[in-house]
Amino acid sequence: MLVTNALIKRLRQKKLSSQINITYGVILFLTLIIINIGTTAGGDYLFFHQAERAIEISVKKVTERVNEIQAIDDSFFEIDIMPSVIFRVTDERGEIYFDSNPYFAPTEKMLQIVRKNPPFWSNSEYILLETERSFFYYKDLPLKIGEHTFHFHFLRTITFEKKYIRNLLWAIFIADLIGLGLAVMTGNILGKKVLKPLKQVTKTAREISIGTIKQRLTIENSGDEVNELSISFNTMLDRLEQSFTQQKRFIADASHELRTPITVIRGYADMLERYGADDKEILEEATAEIKKSAQNMQYLVENLLLLARADADTQNFIKTPVDINEILKVTIESFANPRLEFANDKIFEIKGDAEFLKKMFAAFIDNALIYSQDKVSVKLKNFGSAAVVEISDKGIGIAPENLDKIFDRFYRVDKARTKTEDDKISAGLGLSIAKWIADNHGVKIEVASTLGKGTTFKLTIPH
Ligand code: ADP
Repeated sequence: MLVTNALIKRLRQKKLSSQINITYGVILFLTLIIINIGTTAGGDYLFFHQAERAIEISVKKVTERVNEIQAIDDSFFEIDIMPSVIFRVTDERGEIYFDSNPYFAPTEKMLQIVRKNPPFWSNSEYILLETERSFFYYKDLPLKIGEHTFHFHFLRTITFEKKYIRNLLWAIFIADLIGLGLAVMTGNILGKKVLKPLKQVTKTAREISIGTIKQRLTIENSGDEVNELSISFNTMLDRLEQSFTQQKRFIADASHELRTPITVIRGYADMLERYGADDKEILEEATAEIKKSAQNMQYLVENLLLLARADADTQNFIKTPVDINEILKVTIESFANPRLEFANDKIFEIKGDAEFLKKMFAAFIDNALIYSQDKVSVKLKNFGSAAVVEISDKGIGIAPENLDKIFDRFYRVDKARTKTEDDKISAGLGLSIAKWIADNHGVKIEVASTLGKGTTFKLTIPH
């Protein structure tokens, strides 16, 4: 048991190709051994049985004949004994009366070579004799004829059959060895061929780092499992590359956005150092600008942290039953902007995070106010199973080719516009955060926009 466990453990540590090869080798070997044993045992049984039958029939014929006669005469020996059986008749003193094969060794001599352990399937009524080269079944049948007892000896050789079995066993054994050798050899070659692409996968996987993320496996389109693995591996690399590129761009964009307020703060700090103590006007201007830049930085950092949490999927949304109507009302009030018009419907309750939902609506409303001069309408329509919120402006609009990009991080249609009219930072993060909140609340966003005419964001909120 211990040895088997140790062997299995060692086998597991081997390469996959060797594991398959060894396992199949062992299974094939055991199967061949079982077939060999079966063939030999079956053959042995068949030959023993045949010999027994030959003696049995002969014994029957002799017994019947003896019952019919009073004395042995020459006509008795015309009896039709099975041709494979040697038939001898002796009297009480051992004198030979009849011998169907006088050239064969005398019976007494044969009886000195009784086989000690006959096979379990051989019939115990018969004696099994075994010399170095020959095998026999033997039966002594004493029968009384008149006043005298005669011994009828039956001998049946199974030497040739045994030889045949032995040769067959050797032939099968050699064929087994050749078969096993061939199986292991072809297994090895096939194993190497099959596992070659896997090695390529391993090699590429080992070589890949951020610097070599563009590297891919060559795909041969063979349609097999390894081919499938290679395709999945390349797709995984595509996703990883995309994610790395996005991350790189995100870091670059974030640093770029943070640089502006930092430069402003430094500039005003330098100015304060030089003239601030004496010039009250400069002092006031510098303090106001530093404060504004610090606020912008805070907005940026807060949003960046939020996006980092979104990426890591660590933001915990505290979802409670909330009324969308109420949330919209509070959000609109927080803007305190007379351009905002709110047309509300009945109460519509969903389970959501009130603070994040306010942030989501605020992002759309804020943009509508920034990118238009006219009235901005916010409408809430309750359709029972879903509520629809429409935020429409009559502003600059968005060109169709930019519509699918506005939700990307740091995307601004007008790249030069980094600040809003009231000097608030415009970093292109608002809509990407709004989209993330919407996705986490099952909210569907649709945009309809015409350049120069205005934009409508339609948010469908399910119950
Ligand atoms: P930003 O902070 O620049 O407003 P957003 O992510 O909120 O960033 O919006 C991305 C871009 O989408 C904006 O820079 C603007 O070009 C465009 N955009 C968003 N809403 C509107 C709108 N209502 N009208 C016109 N353009 C808009």
